[in-house]
Amino acid sequence: MRPAILFPLFADTRSLAGVGPRIAKLIEQAAGTRLLDLIFDLPVGVIDRSHRPRLIDAEPGRIATLTLNVLEHKPPRDARQPYRVQCSDDTGLIELVFFRGKADYLAGILPRGSQRLVSGKIEEFNGRRQIAHPDYVVALDAADELPLHEPVYRLTEGLSAKVMLRAVQNSLEKLPQFPEWLEPAFRRERHWPDFVEALRTAHTPQSEEHLAPLSPARQRLAYDELLANQLALGMIRARLRAPKGRAVNGNGRLRSKVLEALPFALTEAQKRALVEIEADMAAPTRMLRLLQGDVGAGKTVIAVLALLDAVEAGLQGVLMAPTELLARQHYTAINPLAAAAGLRLALLTGRERGTPREDTLAALAAGTIDILIGTHALFSEDVTFRDLGLAVVDEQHRFGVHQRMKLQGKGEKPVDVLVMTATPIPRTLALTAYGDMDVSRLTGRPPGRKPVVTRVLSSDRLDEVIEHLRNALAKGARAYWVCPLVDISEKLDLAAVEERAAMLKKRLGPKIDFVHGRMKGAERDAAMARFKSGETSILVATTVIEVGVDVPEATIMVVEHAERFGLAQLHQLRGRVGRGAARATCLLLWHAPLGETAKARLRTLRETDDGFVIAEEDLKLRGAGELLGVRQSGLPEFRLADLALHADLLAAARDDAKLVLARDPGLTSPRGEALRVLLYLFERDEAVRYLRTG
Ligand code: ADP
Ligand code: MG
Repeated sequence: MRPAILFPLFADTRSLAGVGPRIAKLIEQAAGTRLLDLIFDLPVGVIDRSHRPRLIDAEPGRIATLTLNVLEHKPPRDARQPYRVQCSDDTGLIELVFFRGKADYLAGILPRGSQRLVSGKIEEFNGRRQIAHPDYVVALDAADELPLHEPVYRLTEGLSAKVMLRAVQNSLEKLPQFPEWLEPAFRRERHWPDFVEALRTAHTPQSEEHLAPLSPARQRLAYDELLANQLALGMIRARLRAPKGRAVNGNGRLRSKVLEALPFALTEAQKRALVEIEADMAAPTRMLRLLQGDVGAGKTVIAVLALLDAVEAGLQGVLMAPTELLARQHYTAINPLAAAAGLRLALLTGRERGTPREDTLAALAAGTIDILIGTHALFSEDVTFRDLGLAVVDEQHRFGVHQRMKLQGKGEKPVDVLVMTATPIPRTLALTAYGDMDVSRLTGRPPGRKPVVTRVLSSDRLDEVIEHLRNALAKGARAYWVCPLVDISEKLDLAAVEERAAMLKKRLGPKIDFVHGRMKGAERDAAMARFKSGETSILVATTVIEVGVDVPEATIMVVEHAERFGLAQLHQLRGRVGRGAARATCLLLWHAPLGETAKARLRTLRETDDGFVIAEEDLKLRGAGELLGVRQSGLPEFRLADLALHADLLAAARDDAKLVLARDPGLTSPRGEALRVLLYLFERDEAVRYLRTG
């Protein structure tokens, strides 16, 4: 249960004075539905109204706050003219200008003969000073209603800065007194304010400097958010590890056969990863390990060898893929190896039905299947193993901590878990998303693999590209042609794919086919199979092919509108070619206008093909929020922390969380109690629940 002191912050914004349903909708689009969302919505700018010149010194173009005498009201002669109010100080004259100004309203705020503080941007018009629609007009004794430094928030159409500002300020007033959850010495050392003070400071910037992510207030807030994240992951880890695992020790019997059957030797990176995995499996605690490596880095082989370890120990293994296509591909790839070792392998996806499915399930329960390959759907289905020892989850990047928690239930005894991800994730992000796991990294690519030649071209050169394809096709090449997703509608995407396929067909002949996400599984597989067999030689596609299609003969990748793709995505696409022995080419076509960030992305791709380098670059260029499309990726989102800038804070938060959980695993000490509040504040309720029941 959420601590009572947090209740006010989780209240709806409609509970604020001046916020009705209409405004609440606008605020929702800008920040969120609760006071907390407003409080965590830090300003993105600051307007400085502290410049208070005499009129004689007032510079046009600058925002100033003036002390003025109200002289004359000049209502317009016709409706197209503005309403003007003439004002002065001892040094000069100025006009306040209001288009469609209402006479009685203006008479009320600017009574003739009164003195007023007026703030706005000074302009010069026909040689006269004016302020059009001043931001503030207040009486001298109400000067505190005029913020000399006004925070600027992200707004939505129809939401005025003033309304937003007031909503945020009113929300801040609801902040309770929090217990301090940071170690006092640590906080002192950093000269950080307490949490509430940090929030107030962050919302009252006096200058651009105060908006800097590395200002003490913002650092403190970022740290708190990261600490909540790391603490939650630490608690999940503790929970997953709590049931005693078992030592799984293979004897190498099957593995030696497979190693013999492999046409290559393992790379150093692969050997290292394997040693780490073996050690985890042999330990009596449960393995929770992430195997990170680029597309084609050789993860699958490692997974198979790990699964063999379990089988040798008399247990079963399961390999789960994010899509049916990938599950089938894994099955096809692993089958010959399984045969070499005399393993019993089975495939189970949503498409296996009826008697074959029943048979597989029965064999699985009886233990006559050693390794099962399937989709993530295996989680939710009533699949039972005789004795599951290892679960390998090939997750691409679509999977989160919560799904991993579900693995808990699959085996009688706690199952070792190996997660493979084909998306190299920057170290910082890996920590926030996979902080509950140990990490092995497969760097470099298997020997004999040549880097893909990458060229970046304007789409004006489409004809050249097509001619290049014509030549390559004549020599028997195979190519992918990727059209980007258009956000507005899936229909349009498909139209783009079909249209491009038709156009290429007209120019290059009949061996052209297409796939997209709307096609039925079987249809799509058929198209893939035709491409794989060489029956077709150009496959026009949406990014469905991003996820793990394996056609070693394909040597050309054309990406249209490359400027619309993220770095990681382009890298994944490029990884689809260059998997065979032949030299491969990737042609990235961009359409104008090409922004600075897009330019930098394409440059990075041309310069390197190291997925880890690309991932770090991606983080720098885009910020963590946009990376991989956070929502669909299962990566956590941060509101106060910026992983590109607060990486050192993350490391500190990780150490902090580890130490806390080692000393006070139940979070029962005074600091532990305070940290529970922190977890609820950052909505890591789930973690707290594990604590309670664990
Ligand atoms: P990943 O799963 O990381 O995308 P795979 O395991 O599918 O990569 O490996 C990609 C290709 O490289 C496969 O054809 C595989 O047989 C091959 N491969 C893997 N390891 C090596 C190695 N050490 N030497 C040469 N080829 C390798
Ligand atoms: Mg693979």
